[in-house]
Amino acid sequence: MPPSSPRRIAVLGATGSIGRSTLDVVDSHPGRFKVEALTANSNVEALVALCEKYSPSLACIADPALGAAFERAAKSRCPGMQALAGPEGLVACASHDSVDGVMAAIVGAAGLPATLAAAAAGKTVYLANKEALVMSGAILMDTVRRSGAALLPIDSEHNAIFQCLPQNSSGLEPGGTLADKGVRRLLLTASGGPFRTRKRADLASVTPDQACAHPNWVMGRKISVDSATMMNKGLEIIEAHWLFGAAREQVDVVIHPQSVIHSMVEYADGSVIAQLGNPDMRTPIAHALAYPERIESGVQRLNLATFAGLTFEEPDLQRFPALALAYAALEAGGTAPISLNAANEVAVAAFLGGGLPFLAITDVIGGVLERAAAERVEGLDHVLEADRRARALARELMPLARELMQESRACI
Ligand code: NAD
Ligand code: MG
Repeated sequence: MPPSSPRRIAVLGATGSIGRSTLDVVDSHPGRFKVEALTANSNVEALVALCEKYSPSLACIADPALGAAFERAAKSRCPGMQALAGPEGLVACASHDSVDGVMAAIVGAAGLPATLAAAAAGKTVYLANKEALVMSGAILMDTVRRSGAALLPIDSEHNAIFQCLPQNSSGLEPGGTLADKGVRRLLLTASGGPFRTRKRADLASVTPDQACAHPNWVMGRKISVDSATMMNKGLEIIEAHWLFGAAREQVDVVIHPQSVIHSMVEYADGSVIAQLGNPDMRTPIAHALAYPERIESGVQRLNLATFAGLTFEEPDLQRFPALALAYAALEAGGTAPISLNAANEVAVAAFLGGGLPFLAITDVIGGVLERAAAERVEGLDHVLEADRRARALARELMPLARELMQESRACI
């Protein structure tokens, strides 16, 4: 039975992969959800078209330079809608009184202020924007605790783990320990990405399109490259640390190329509970949007008989150093995960723009982690300052990483 009044949601990053999957789930449940706010980065036409379809009360184009164009288009095509622009507009959409739940699906550090604003305003936060949590884990979890916001993970692994943990009808409980729940460890599954079976030397000249051709998931380009380097799993280790209060030794990664088991929880008695499903983000999205109810997601039913087998491997930290870097950042704590994330964002953007070889991505991140001291996080300004410093350092290191890569290729 749908609830009597619709759940009013904001979709931050509505034009992206998670944003579109969210709206697809919404479309299959007329009357259950009301889209109150929508945001996009720079595609004015796509945002206005979504506004025409969903009639939100407010919408925001993140790029301030496009504010006038968005306002003009909105005025004629979406009369009565509040058309906003820039970072303040994103925050306004995330924290507006008429919004109950916020899909935080902006990619990267750019999503942090709006995600934090949603938590501070006591909304139900559907968290896809893992980078925000990696950067500001203690602050975000503390904000959720203080404001009484609810937090529901969208990342398929964390959504799976949440489903495998003892259920609490209000969402995650920030502050609870895994030991209290009888949990021994969390097992994050990873597909291994498009280069799982390649030798490291063969990765020297891979192109952005090859890196983005994920075998099981269709995603935005940044997270697709993260999956190819396995930094996505690295970020997810840190994400699991904050969401579930898991210590470093309580999070393990297992390669599972079929992406059918989305993650597992091992209990003290030896039981391992897994969540399975076809690899389609509409499952975790539908789970979170309707939580604690269960609704149709539009995802094809899982037919295990079509799989020749479900297989598992140990991750290879030599070929995929990103995992080791993420574990190191988690152990160092403080600002180290901020540096890891910032360096990764800069290096991935450079790779996608054709300005950095694939293998140099992790070299740049390693270089930044070596040089940026891990400081105790003193507050949000400190987070943003550490992010800026790590980005500057990454840009400084890129020419050297490029050169070293060229020299080593000349030696092969
Ligand atoms: P995407 O690139 O497809 O979409 C990103 C969205 O954010 C777009 O709407 C874009 O307009 C907006 N955006 C980009 N830069 C922005 C900026 N500077 N300011 C404001 N808005 C901006 O990305 P995606 O694949 O949908 O991923 C979104 C988030 O969800 C990421 O944090 C990713 O790690 C996470 N996630 C994605 C998937 C997936 O399957 N795609 C799975 C798990 C987690
Ligand atoms: Mg994931």
